[in-house]
Amino acid sequence: MTGSALRVTLADAIVWAVETLRDASETPRLDAEVLLAHTLGWSRARVLSRLEEPFTDESLHQFRTLILRRAAREPVAYLVGRKEFYGLEFVVDRRVLVPRPETETLVDAALEWAKHRPAPLVIADIGTGSGCIAVALAVHLPQAHIYAIDLSRDALAVARQNVIRHHVDASVTLLNGDLLAPLPQPVDLLVSNPPYTVLDEVDPGVRMHEPHLALDGGSDGLAVYRRLFAAAPSALRPGGALMLEIGATQARAVVDLARQAFPEAVIRVRQDLAGRDRVVICFSD
Ligand code: GLN
Repeated sequence: MTGSALRVTLADAIVWAVETLRDASETPRLDAEVLLAHTLGWSRARVLSRLEEPFTDESLHQFRTLILRRAAREPVAYLVGRKEFYGLEFVVDRRVLVPRPETETLVDAALEWAKHRPAPLVIADIGTGSGCIAVALAVHLPQAHIYAIDLSRDALAVARQNVIRHHVDASVTLLNGDLLAPLPQPVDLLVSNPPYTVLDEVDPGVRMHEPHLALDGGSDGLAVYRRLFAAAPSALRPGGALMLEIGATQARAVVDLARQAFPEAVIRVRQDLAGRDRVVICFSD
């Protein structure tokens, strides 16, 4: 006999979850619904149409575990193991930075530039992480060859899954090493979302859970840009371009570094959808 007093519905569980996530998340209701859908293997729409249904003990336990992890500020993307970026679904876990929507601005800039260039282009994505930038470019530029480089072998294992998942393994070459060092040839386009934060200033949830290798830009956030600009001029073919994601307050500093490295280049700053400075672009001669 099951006592009806103990019956927990999906709606009850969501109420509890929203309360539990109140301090940890800016979107407690959305997080609760997404994690509930993940627990049950349902769509969110299906969850919302069956809120009066009861939980099984096992799925209730699983849901509570996920909500408690989220309450400890673990990103939802790690809890469900995937994240959408540029209209594509990427596998993610704690080995890689979670793809951010603002990084789509970098992909937009790269695709616009590539549109006016004769194929086939050779491109390098420095610090590829999950591979989201390299894979998005490969999907939209089937003629291009893309080197996707990362210092972290763990990250490359995740990138490999995403390359295979999106059927771009013929055009993306994954390379292990520091910045541009593993590049076997000069390229037409260098793109990168390098680590650019000052760790102490990063959101605690991000700092606690996401890889510091992907975040830590040194004491002023600019350390990796300096090293990138030292190596970039000799890695670009004539007429090539360099596109770097930046933090919203870094445009002036990164443009200065770009001018020193590429004195003849046309340099532009592009904003993300929130209107914040997000990408520095150098068109070399
Ligand atoms: N945009 C990320 C954040 O603010 C940082 C990403 C990076 O350092 N490349 O958390």
